[in-house]
Amino acid sequence: MAKTELATPAQVKYLTTLAEKVGKERFDAEFAKVVKGSDIEPRTPRQRCATAAKRLTKARARKLRTSPELPYTVEHMTTHGEAAAAHTAIDEDEAGQRALATQMPWDDPEQRPGEPCPCGDADHVEECDCEEGAFMIHVMRIPGSLDELTLWEDHFECTHGSSSYTQKLTLHETPWGVREQAVDRRGASYERVRLFPGITHGQESLLPGFGVS
Ligand SMILES: [Zn+2]
Ligand SMILES: [Zn+2]
Repeated sequence: MAKTELATPAQVKYLTTLAEKVGKERFDAEFAKVVKGSDIEPRTPRQRCATAAKRLTKARARKLRTSPELPYTVEHMTTHGEAAAAHTAIDEDEAGQRALATQMPWDDPEQRPGEPCPCGDADHVEECDCEEGAFMIHVMRIPGSLDELTLWEDHFECTHGSSSYTQKLTLHETPWGVREQAVDRRGASYERVRLFPGITHGQESLLPGFGVS
């Protein structure tokens, strides 16, 4: 049954936003690719993207969502979107705490198969179509950029080890570090990105200003 399960409301919502962001033509092109070989029809010109997305199976919705042809960073909607843009005013300690609570590094508890995720996103309890009883689990959330401080990266893996994917997300109110001016030993100023305490970055040595002394 898992194979014929329809896209979840969260997937539909995500794909609808994605369609708006990348434009209908690109969305349709990728949509056509993921429904190829199935009995799911491509979107008709008069059909809304949301309606088309609802016809997808869960697995195909995931394929579309993670298509490398589409920039799949869909900003999580927050009720304080505008206020968050002025994040210069964020109190740093508080922001650091929030980042720490948000990240899920390798050694943190990860999502248990089929159960709600510790990241708080109740929507991504997702079966994998490789085998009966296989689930995609959220194993990591770490910073997902070298310069966009609110861009994070989620890692999902199948419990049966047959597939995995990553997905970027922007959390406007939760930067993982700060950008600041610093002065090196010779008195020259430079810009650096400083991680909040306890934050794991997969490419820390590539961050601006890393290792300058
Ligand atoms: Zn999660
Ligand atoms: Zn699987």
